[in-house]
Amino acid sequence: MADACNGPSPTPPVQRHPETGITAVIVGGGVGGIMTALECWRKGIQVRIFERMVVLLISIYHAGDFFSIGPSACKVFEHWPAMKEENEATSYDFWLSYHKQTGEHIYGPAPLAIVTTNEAGETTTNTIRIHRHLRSKFQNILLRQLAATGMVVEYNHRAVRYHETDDKANVEFDNGVRVEADLVIAADGVGTKSFEVVTGKELRARSSGYAIYRTAYPVEFAVADPDVDRRFAILPNGQSPAEMWVGPDMHLFISRTEDTFSWSVTHKDTADSAETWYGTHSKCTPADVIQCLETSLGSCPDILQKVFNTTPEDRLVDWKLLWRDPQPQWTSPRGRVVQLGDAAHTFLPSSGNGATQAMEDAMSLASCLEIGGQSNIPMALRVHNLLRAERVSCCQLLGFRNQAQRHHTNWDLVAENPRAIKESYDRWLWAHDAEQYAYENYGKAFQHLITGAPFTNTNAAPGYVYRPWNIDELLAKQDAGIPIEV
Ligand SMILES: Cc1cc2nc3c(=O)[nH]c(=O)nc-3n(C[C@H](O)[C@H](O)[C@H](O)COP(=O)(O)OP(=O)(O)OC[C@H]3O[C@@H](n4cnc5c(N)ncnc54)[C@H](O)[C@@H]3O)c2cc1C
Repeated sequence: MADACNGPSPTPPVQRHPETGITAVIVGGGVGGIMTALECWRKGIQVRIFERMVVLLISIYHAGDFFSIGPSACKVFEHWPAMKEENEATSYDFWLSYHKQTGEHIYGPAPLAIVTTNEAGETTTNTIRIHRHLRSKFQNILLRQLAATGMVVEYNHRAVRYHETDDKANVEFDNGVRVEADLVIAADGVGTKSFEVVTGKELRARSSGYAIYRTAYPVEFAVADPDVDRRFAILPNGQSPAEMWVGPDMHLFISRTEDTFSWSVTHKDTADSAETWYGTHSKCTPADVIQCLETSLGSCPDILQKVFNTTPEDRLVDWKLLWRDPQPQWTSPRGRVVQLGDAAHTFLPSSGNGATQAMEDAMSLASCLEIGGQSNIPMALRVHNLLRAERVSCCQLLGFRNQAQRHHTNWDLVAENPRAIKESYDRWLWAHDAEQYAYENYGKAFQHLITGAPFTNTNAAPGYVYRPWNIDELLAKQDAGIPIEV
């Protein structure tokens, strides 16, 4: 499929596929948007990227804290040698221990890495690294690669409206600029402006019922407190320590690396939320967090108070977790606009999948466009949508399963087997290759859409049968202690 690279090439070289003649506009310069730009470039599609921010990165601690890039997303780096190297070098390895909300130790420390199973579901001796990144550092890897391919992000363009005709799509920005292409990819996050063109109605994200106090800052602030320094010392094997505390209706995560200290407290949120990531987090103080724990748990252990109090001023936010129930339709009626990443599907952080699924979307979409070619763009978008939506809905469920496990722990089970507190990563999740899946299934999915011939996705949890669900049913189950099955 691939031939020699035309045009500017990153170092070491990336094989670019033949030109398709397709033009695309991408709205949003987050992980989803930039990865899609890169994969489209690799598959011979011409792209322009627009972003509402004036610049994407101010400092490494001003664009989020940590997120996970799962093994299925890392598969893309097999085609991008420079990014592969940087992904390995920049990511952090944590050894995680689990505690009750009172501080009582349950299990660990144990590596975050995945203990693998084979096709028969048997445990193997291999482990696979889960790449934990500071969001800003990971974004920088993508931006450096983008620059190496000769692409630029056109900043200071806030999309306000999307339109489509039978053979083009365009997007209007708040500065009066309007750009047109064969298709427009809405990767503008949870507050996307694309719902009107995709579904005919505005569909706002709502509160998930939870919010997170979260922060990351230079480790020097934390180690200035000798008790915090001692408790979160780099482990004798050189690995970074992390602690997860689980308790009724809350969980918290504290980690220390060579350069960064970070902590977060997921808690019940009762306040109204607005629609954007930026508008929805409010500045708060360690005293607010201590009070929140005292109110919900009756007390806040001394070591936690010490940790919270090492936070530099103005570095703590209370981040509302926004949610939109799974939407099976990401593609506009004429097939010229498609939603991608958080714009198509929101994730709870406890799924560990927001960035991973955005990257899988990028691999799948670029592959479908390449296979369909210039004359079949609407069909390519529909096939991509069909191949992705059920898997993503299954991954969204994982977030609720994990959250329920942390907030309504089955202590009898954990007493018998403390390891049960650790999340399991199933093979269907980590072993998936979204690019290969698109190549292998495009034809069958196409036939299904044209003739109604049977087609069943094989990229979700074994036995999973998609049916519409919503957050209210899941939260009710969680509150009633009914297990959430994936
Ligand atoms: C500032 C920030 C910090 C984050 N921190 C974390 C974190 O610590 N942990 C975690 O798990 N996840 C975090 N996330 C979410 C995580 O990055 C995403 O869930 C995941 O990477 C999917 O990426 P995405 O590209 O679909 O969405 P996003 O990462 O949200 O990117 C969307 C991009 O679109 C831009 N945009 C939004 N609206 C418009 C518009 N109208 N016109 C043009 N551009 C627009 C945004 O500025 C942003 O750059 C953060 C997201 C943001 C934006």
